[in-house]
Amino acid sequence: VFITLEGGEGAGKTTQQALLAERLQQEGYTCLCTREPGGTPLGKELRALLLHGDPISPLAELLLYAADRAEHVQTRIQPALAAGQVVVCDRFTDSTLAYQGYGRGLDLDLIRQVNQLATGTLQPHLTLWLDLPPQVGLGRARSRQAAGFSEAGALQSTSADRMEQAQLPFHQRLYQGFQELAATEPQRIVRIDAQGSPQEVAQRIWSVVKSRLAE
Ligand code: C5P
Ligand code: MG
Repeated sequence: VFITLEGGEGAGKTTQQALLAERLQQEGYTCLCTREPGGTPLGKELRALLLHGDPISPLAELLLYAADRAEHVQTRIQPALAAGQVVVCDRFTDSTLAYQGYGRGLDLDLIRQVNQLATGTLQPHLTLWLDLPPQVGLGRARSRQAAGFSEAGALQSTSADRMEQAQLPFHQRLYQGFQELAATEPQRIVRIDAQGSPQEVAQRIWSVVKSRLAE
């Protein structure tokens, strides 16, 4: 079973991934927790380039995310699924549609083609969209950064390009993107209210995952 977590900045994907994995393990599932970008050795290098490197053109950015994903799907996700594990991935194809499409303005059909090239036939069985109003998410992400909780080096080397993403209009476009994606594929993408305590959100997630696993 392949589960992805999606949403904007500060929505709590990483926290919820850990809580979901813990719960799955308690219930006897073996689980692989991974993320994009950066789920493989190549991906870690791409992540550093994408998040802390100099700004690059949107198309080049799209293709680097695709390279990250192709490597990730082939060397990590597919083998884990073949071994019967539950894979929980922090961001996947919907983030590319949201960030590179709704955020940066690349054509959505082009992105879908590139996504398909990178993933082959693999699609998430379930995508949890952690829905948090962009103002709230940005506030969370900013206070996390101010407190120095962002990943090593992120603060010092955040480029002008990355700062642009901290602006509200960009985030509002992402949010609209996730809303539209969820409306287009309601069977796969389930909206989770991401407000409240981590435990409350984890409970909402578990009730959805549990019923999917029982199907
Ligand atoms: O998942 P995480 O919050 O660590 O993502 C790091 C950053 O990667 C995001 O804040 C976003 O700026 C960027 N990103 C992106 N396009 C994607 C995926 C992530 O711009 N497709
Ligand atoms: Mg995160």
